[in-house]
Amino acid sequence: MRYWPLWTLRRSALAYWLLVDALALALVVYVIASLPRPEPAEIARFGVIAGTAGAVIIGSSIFSHRVGETERNPWAAHLCYLTAGVIALPGNLLVLLLFGPALHGVLAQRLESHRWVFTLSATALSVFATRFLVGWAEPAHGLLVMSLGATVLLVVRAGLIAAGLKLRSPRAAAEEVVGEPIDAVLGIVAVSIGGLMGFVATTTPVHAVMAAAPMALLERAAQLPQWRRSAQRDAKTGLANAVHWDGRARYELAKARVRERPMAVLLLDLDHFKRVNDRVGHLAGDAALSAVAVLLSGTVRRGDLVGRFGGEEFVVLLPDAEPSVARSVAQRVRLAVEDLAVATVGTDGREHLLTGLTVSIGVATTSRFGYELPDLLVAADAALLAAKGYGRNLVEMA
Ligand code: GH3
Ligand code: MG
Ligand code: MG
Repeated sequence: MRYWPLWTLRRSALAYWLLVDALALALVVYVIASLPRPEPAEIARFGVIAGTAGAVIIGSSIFSHRVGETERNPWAAHLCYLTAGVIALPGNLLVLLLFGPALHGVLAQRLESHRWVFTLSATALSVFATRFLVGWAEPAHGLLVMSLGATVLLVVRAGLIAAGLKLRSPRAAAEEVVGEPIDAVLGIVAVSIGGLMGFVATTTPVHAVMAAAPMALLERAAQLPQWRRSAQRDAKTGLANAVHWDGRARYELAKARVRERPMAVLLLDLDHFKRVNDRVGHLAGDAALSAVAVLLSGTVRRGDLVGRFGGEEFVVLLPDAEPSVARSVAQRVRLAVEDLAVATVGTDGREHLLTGLTVSIGVATTSRFGYELPDLLVAADAALLAAKGYGRNLVEMA
């Protein structure tokens, strides 16, 4: 317990996460203890909703295991049947549904179990809030109140989770904290299917099994953001990979050509990187590459496009950058790399502070080489070679 990753959270985040967990747990216990036993008809409804959801999630887990998916986001499916439960079940059976994601977290052996528990608690609180809104004892089924309930469920949940993530990493990007637009779309689809399922379950429970197919489709669609991320990003550094960078760079260059705005391309290659690997090992080398990636993203402006070009080569597109600006950005990056100290573990298993990294940078600008990406890259590469030739740790303009 002393080594639980939960304790690595900042104090404010830890307090908030534990508060959300404790509140959810207290409400669950209170609801279970205070409500009367459910009627057989209600138990039948619960059986159909839980059975359908269970079959979909287990089926989807088996499928994703077979195709080798290592990371999944099952929350869309969980939100779907929880919404059905809000509309169709008494409070204590609704609470029983919350054991679905809890069980899933245990069976799937999530790596960050404290994060799973926190997400589950935030989900539970938003489910309770929604149920209070639509009517605790007898949920209303009017379209307006159901739509309002669905909105509250999504917004309260997203808000509780975003606050926790922001407290955990105050510098995290908005995308990491509130998710991407596709996450909102998935959430809306989830509560819509759940709403239909719950509504049907209140009249003819057995027909609720028809929600299985759209729920399965939702389960698959929920993996889309992960697939897109892994298609666009370089796994080692998290930067845009070469193919994705190429596509975006061409798009930005085409826009800049029409608007007649200047642009620049920086091509960076770490100096004598093979020696780093030979001295401290490839894993430490990888840590250095990640550190350089973080540094690059932090040193350039928000709209600048950083990518991993290849092994220890990086590339940056600078929109709206005159040659003098591009040169000073490149110098800034060069000096920042010089100052970099990366905590790594060497081949001897000991901690090792890696310092003394340097980088050579070739810069090509649209004012000299035009708006065709291959021309700019060839020019930047030639300048980079020249920088290496002149002794490395240099910026060279093409
Ligand atoms: P210079 O560029 O200054 O001429 O020397 P260098 O040693 O960096 O040159 P070269 O391009 O020949 O070697 C690049 C080295 O980068 C080869 C490889 O060991 C290392 N490298 C490339 N990709 C990776 C990677 O993903 N991880 C690690 N650890 N090393 C990598
Ligand atoms: Mg190289
Ligand atoms: Mg190199």
